[in-house]
Amino acid sequence: MKAEAKEKKKSGAILAASAGIFVIALSVSSFFLIQIIGRMNRSANQNLLTSSRVINEGLNNKITLDQEMLNTLADLLALEEEDMVGKTLCKYTDFTDFYQFSYINMDGKGTDSKGNTIYASDFQFDEISLSQGKNGISAPYYGSSGRLQLTYQSPVIRDGKQVGAVYADRIVNDYNLPTLFTFHNGAGSAFVVDSDGKFIISSRGTGGEKDIFSYLGEQGNGDAVRETLRQVMEEEKSGTLTIVYKDQKSLLGFLPVEAPEGCYLLTVIPRSILQQEATPIICMLCCMFCLLLIGGISISALLAGRQSMKADVKQKEYREKLFGNLSANIDFAFMLYTPEQQKVELVSDNLPGLLGITSQQVMERPGQVFDASGMSREDEARNGFLRGTLGEQITRESMVGSGPNEVRRWIAVHLIPADYGQYLAVFHETTSEHDMRDQLADALTQAQNSNRARTAFFSSMSHDIRTPMNGIIGMTNIALKNLDDREKVESCLNKITAASGHLLSLINEVLDMSRIESGRISLKEENVHLPSLIGNLLSVIKPDMDKKGQSLRMQSRILEHDTVISDTLHLQKILLNLLSNAVKYTQEGGEIRLLISELPMESDTIRMRFVVEDNGFGMSPAFLERIFLPFERAEDSRMNQVPGTGLGLAITKSIVDLMGGLISVESREHEGSRFTVEIPLKLPAQQVEEFPELSGYSALIVDDDRDACESIGLILQESGVRANWVNNGPAAVEQVYKAHEEKDDYCVVILDWRMPGMDGLETARQIRGRLGSEVPILLLSAYDWESVKEEALEAGINGFLTKPIFRTELLEQMKYYIWDKNKETEKQETEKAVTAKLQPEEAENLQGIRILTAEDNELNREIIVELLENSGAVVDSAQNGKEALDYYLDSSPGYYHLILMDVNMPVMDGLEAVRAIRDSGREDAAMIPVIAMTADVFKEDINKCREAGMNAHIGKPVELDKLYSTLRRFLNTGKSGEM
Ligand code: ADP
Repeated sequence: MKAEAKEKKKSGAILAASAGIFVIALSVSSFFLIQIIGRMNRSANQNLLTSSRVINEGLNNKITLDQEMLNTLADLLALEEEDMVGKTLCKYTDFTDFYQFSYINMDGKGTDSKGNTIYASDFQFDEISLSQGKNGISAPYYGSSGRLQLTYQSPVIRDGKQVGAVYADRIVNDYNLPTLFTFHNGAGSAFVVDSDGKFIISSRGTGGEKDIFSYLGEQGNGDAVRETLRQVMEEEKSGTLTIVYKDQKSLLGFLPVEAPEGCYLLTVIPRSILQQEATPIICMLCCMFCLLLIGGISISALLAGRQSMKADVKQKEYREKLFGNLSANIDFAFMLYTPEQQKVELVSDNLPGLLGITSQQVMERPGQVFDASGMSREDEARNGFLRGTLGEQITRESMVGSGPNEVRRWIAVHLIPADYGQYLAVFHETTSEHDMRDQLADALTQAQNSNRARTAFFSSMSHDIRTPMNGIIGMTNIALKNLDDREKVESCLNKITAASGHLLSLINEVLDMSRIESGRISLKEENVHLPSLIGNLLSVIKPDMDKKGQSLRMQSRILEHDTVISDTLHLQKILLNLLSNAVKYTQEGGEIRLLISELPMESDTIRMRFVVEDNGFGMSPAFLERIFLPFERAEDSRMNQVPGTGLGLAITKSIVDLMGGLISVESREHEGSRFTVEIPLKLPAQQVEEFPELSGYSALIVDDDRDACESIGLILQESGVRANWVNNGPAAVEQVYKAHEEKDDYCVVILDWRMPGMDGLETARQIRGRLGSEVPILLLSAYDWESVKEEALEAGINGFLTKPIFRTELLEQMKYYIWDKNKETEKQETEKAVTAKLQPEEAENLQGIRILTAEDNELNREIIVELLENSGAVVDSAQNGKEALDYYLDSSPGYYHLILMDVNMPVMDGLEAVRAIRDSGREDAAMIPVIAMTADVFKEDINKCREAGMNAHIGKPVELDKLYSTLRRFLNTGKSGEM
């Protein structure tokens, strides 16, 4: 705006300066023009006066000539006798232009040229020659000629003595010769008037008796002119006057003449004639002047225009530069538009990029920018902008890119009426603001939800904790009141045990949840042997399944990798939760399926898919939406009878998420549920894949599951085994027999246990019935071959293959049975020995074992001492770490077989005590197993125990199974183990 004002000021100054110069030039040229015109007028006057003088001179010449002629006659008459005078006069008349001559002697008597006697006294003019002896001319008078005449007079002197006087009359008008009284080629006329203004000689028809004043009046001149003329004539001045003559502006010259005496010579000529030569010059000058004027005005206008144009251009350039700078540095794009001309004045460089259209398109169809910014064609603001009727600034925000393959974006458009009938549209992408708003809204909703969930969580938790606590307290009271009634007390204690179990699992799960939620859970990376993991899992749920008479179906193709890197405990927890739910929420006699498959590998990672399916209670679609939220349990009468916390799936989902996996659920009420978990699992760095070379051997696969047959067959073929398969028992028996007949016995027969019609055991029996015990037969079962082991061995089964089948396991088994059948017995014996070792009764037998315990809580101390002593152990119990250390140091080396150490204790805590024991320098200091027994169950706590030198960790409240199995682990080996 400052620049604009400056420009305006500058153009104003230029305009003022050029106007000044122009006025000065105009004044100077006007001055010169006036001077020139004045000069020309003066020279015209001069010319006229000159012409008048010339005429006057001519007239004088003529009069002088006439006078001289009369003088000559007077001289002639002086020589003659008076008698002869008449004749001489007469002769002279014929030779001259005089009208008549007269002679008067001194007596006043004489004769004229016509011979008449005349007397001086009769003269009508003033006589001077006779009376005064002078030459001269009379004043004009009307004499004997009847016309205005002049009389020349001359004395006749003889011998020095005047003898008379001679007179010559002349008609005045005879002097009116065109050569003399007209000038300028007849354009100018001359008159002689007397002192009264009466015409004496008139060159044109001026009306004989009229005087010059009335004549001028007739011609249309005012009194002023006439008065002036009268005055100058009285004063006998010479000069010029401007008059109107014959309707033209003319110049009147006045000049007193010598003769006739008292007369004036007047000359008149139209001014135009006089200025005939000057007129073109004046015209030229006027034209030049006008041209100068026009030129000056034009130049000034041009200059001013140019200046304002320059200012306009500069302003435009400045605006464009400003827009350019703005658009380069900010995210706003502009369009300047003049609705009246439907013209786009300016488009910022970043507009095409923002809206995905070209500048050309914007210039040609300004409406297109609004289309591209998502504004509707019916939008009033848009139409107001384009038509120039928009009265105030309006902002619109629209979404573009709603198509399936388009990126969704938000564009804000500000429509602003600007100056000079122009409109400005400013465009700006607001997608990020929108996204942020959405995110904020989401975050708010999430925060509100999580707040709600937290409140619900705590209220559920307090409810779920109170319920079993009530039971425990209530039952304890009942038991106390009925101490004598052994049965009642026992029933109460059973209920208390059930309620405490529930409470413990609830607390464990809540702790798990809180650890997961607070991010304190960290996943281990260890080698996980999947067959063992699945085996453990199935053996854990088997008792419950058996209780409910449910069957398990394992389905899977052969799994390529049996060892992966993951966190065993958590992986197990996921599957255990799903399987135990399937068992819990499926009616008695129901079927549970576990499907495991490996999805295509991505470099060193595989995706393992676990599907747990049941044909149990199922869930409603509404519940499915909440299923993974903590404490959510379906409100179903059948479900209510099943104990649970509603935390299992929430924990499961959190672990799956943590592992980068996916969990989903499908379910129909009363039909069943299917949970699918997919987890990415890393493979160990070098998984040795050395498979045995089994070329030349043959195997028969018998399974009603075609997929299983195919995948087992494929793996065997890869190792060189000739594999055939049939899908039922009778066909298998036939096939084996046929091969035997052809002396091409199968090296191994793999029989699925559960087949429709003839099952695996029956098929084995029939094969053995027909062929004896030649061919090794392997039974393919899900997990529970233990239950049919005896029957299977009786039926002639040599070995067992567990589903899911892993490639390595399959090939190992094949190798074993093909190459070294004899080892089977040994293997069975080893199994028996291991099983026998783990008999629970023996595990709890601690006869002859000396244990040192450290526990500050009296009740807990009492419980642990009671438990251990009941198992036959000799127990010393300390109340804190210091006491425990003293017990240890006071005993002889090797006296204690094991130490159970609480961690949080007064005087000296467990960690310090262990450190002191390990540092004591005694010979058993490094070897003696120290097991932590503490309520600090988090990973960090366990790590601290290990760092302090403890060998194992048992969480409180103590689960007896865990206690005994841990004790047994260290007591059997007799040396310290690894945590
Ligand atoms: P809990 O089993 O301790 O109640 P979970 O979080 O494991 O807690 O399960 C939440 C709820 O989901 C269960 O209470 C039950 O209503 C429902 N549910 C889980 N698994 C199944 C299943 N296989 N069939 C039917 N309902 C199920």
